[in-house]
Amino acid sequence: MRRKSIYQRYIPSFSPDDKNTAPSYWFVFNENRMMVCEDNDKTIIPQADKLEELNISPVRTQYLGTLDGHSCYSTEVNPGTLAPEGMVFRDLRSLYLDLDEDIFLLAGKAIQVVNWDSDHQFCGKCGTPTRTMSDEMAKICPECGFISHTRISPAVITAIVKDGKLLMAKHSRTSGDMYGLIAGFVEAGETIEEAVQRETMEEVGLKVKNIQYFGSQPWPFPNSLMLGFTADYESGDIQADGNEIIDAHWFGADELPRLPSKMSIAGELIQWYIENYQNRRYAGKTQNTQKDTKTRRY
Ligand SMILES: [Zn+2]
Repeated sequence: MRRKSIYQRYIPSFSPDDKNTAPSYWFVFNENRMMVCEDNDKTIIPQADKLEELNISPVRTQYLGTLDGHSCYSTEVNPGTLAPEGMVFRDLRSLYLDLDEDIFLLAGKAIQVVNWDSDHQFCGKCGTPTRTMSDEMAKICPECGFISHTRISPAVITAIVKDGKLLMAKHSRTSGDMYGLIAGFVEAGETIEEAVQRETMEEVGLKVKNIQYFGSQPWPFPNSLMLGFTADYESGDIQADGNEIIDAHWFGADELPRLPSKMSIAGELIQWYIENYQNRRYAGKTQNTQKDTKTRRY
């Protein structure tokens, strides 16, 4: 599964088209929970011309653009607000596999815009109330001119291969026997490839080479942009740092532990590994394992 760009259906914009008569999509948040209609096993986003039709009183509302020609709005309600009849507030994470993928991605944008709008009502430098800019997703201070954009934190996640086997690690934060790929946030002053090298050395004590960009995924908990890479093992013995990583092993394509959803960048990287390394024989020597540059996304 390779995801198509959301921009095939979604057009971002900062000001609504008054002539658009199609009912709008409303991404309504009650803290981390989003309002959805659950109908005949389908989970959908509420549609209405105005939110008041749903008996909801918004605190602040932001226009996000159009999806399939329908205007999209994000908004927040006061904590404790009850969902109208036939709708529920559900934790956004729990909706990951239930919502249409583009809708989930847009919901991820919506919650970040709502939180950013709420957190930047006042200038971080001088405390003056800010003004939302009309031509970009930003707020400006009318007093000192300080501009605040939506915050995005880039993080790298890497599929590392040695002799046809994939490195997977058990994170201290996850419960049970869930293994994942090596991942971590990009630090100020480094390239994303250097972040891959540093994180791999810090977490499992290995050097990697042939670092290749694979694709990316926005992850709104709270504001990550996951940048996926593939890489080959270069040198070193696995040494889990004992802090973030408590165990790590090389797994063959037919011995992988429980896997994440294919819809995630982690799932797509593991799928890439399986497609490229299943049924391959390795004599034990590290080979050039970058074979799949043509089938990658983007
Ligand atoms: Zn200011």
